[in-house]
Amino acid sequence: MSYLTQFLIVIPLLCLDFVIVIGQNNVPKHSPVKPKVPTGTILPIEESRSARIPPDRAPKALIVTAHPDDETCFAATIYKITKELGGTVDLAVITNGEAGYKYSTLAEDIYHLKLTDEAVGRENLPAIRKRELMAGGKYIGIRNYYFFDQKDTHYTLDADTVLRMVWNVEWVKHRLRELIEREHYDIVFTLLPAPETHGHHKAATIIALEVVCQLIEPAKPAVLGCGSGMKNDTIPIFHELADYPITRCAVSSPIAALDKTQKFGFNNRLNYSIITSWVVAEHKSQGTMHLGFRSELENFWLFGENNPKTLSYVKDLFRRMANATP
Ligand SMILES: [Zn+2]
Repeated sequence: MSYLTQFLIVIPLLCLDFVIVIGQNNVPKHSPVKPKVPTGTILPIEESRSARIPPDRAPKALIVTAHPDDETCFAATIYKITKELGGTVDLAVITNGEAGYKYSTLAEDIYHLKLTDEAVGRENLPAIRKRELMAGGKYIGIRNYYFFDQKDTHYTLDADTVLRMVWNVEWVKHRLRELIEREHYDIVFTLLPAPETHGHHKAATIIALEVVCQLIEPAKPAVLGCGSGMKNDTIPIFHELADYPITRCAVSSPIAALDKTQKFGFNNRLNYSIITSWVVAEHKSQGTMHLGFRSELENFWLFGENNPKTLSYVKDLFRRMANATP
């Protein structure tokens, strides 16, 4: 069985039209920002859902990321859940994205601002990037956006300093826990905290894991880490992030992958990379993103902190996504 085939069927042998800034000092509890909803609207709370999830139930997922463009890594998965499986996907973004000014040269003409000037960029990018995010989010069906607006300092590999000295971690965890408990998500998607990735990505995932792991069944969703890949790559391996045993994976290779090259449409000329391109295209302020977003697979790792029973749900979900078409 080829590597691709294994992931297409899930390895069976392994086990938020303007943006409202939701900040910690100015936002009521649980204020999701929705496109076309100009205030921090409080949405009705759905009925509590049982942990015993019927296999064909429309999935309900939360994406937890650090920056207002990280969702591009999950774009095809989000699209399939919302558009093809009739599910729901919300997005929680930890930082305000203000540090993304260095490659904004071409966007200065669009926004009529000298965004590459650090002071100008840091002042204006939080709102600009939320608009860009939500513009792309329309294409993939993101329902609610939760902006936690922690400081986006600068690029770093160091998650520890971010968690200890930069973000208000306890406030973020408290809000995230309230959100997950209220919405009864089936699954939480994060970015895989691989050593070479941005410290903010690692920190966001660590926070999500710490929150989920404190929950008790049936309120505890599955939690997975995502990394992009190419079909001809060797199988990517991730065990855990040093000093953060909570990031340990149940299996060091991905337990599932969404193949964006799945063909459909007239003469089978279309595939899900188009969806990623649509989302990436909205992030005009983030210049380097547009130099070639090479990804054929959205790979997913199952963290070891999951209840073993969640594996069958995850496997079934990815089978359903692989079998679904637009
Ligand atoms: Zn990022």
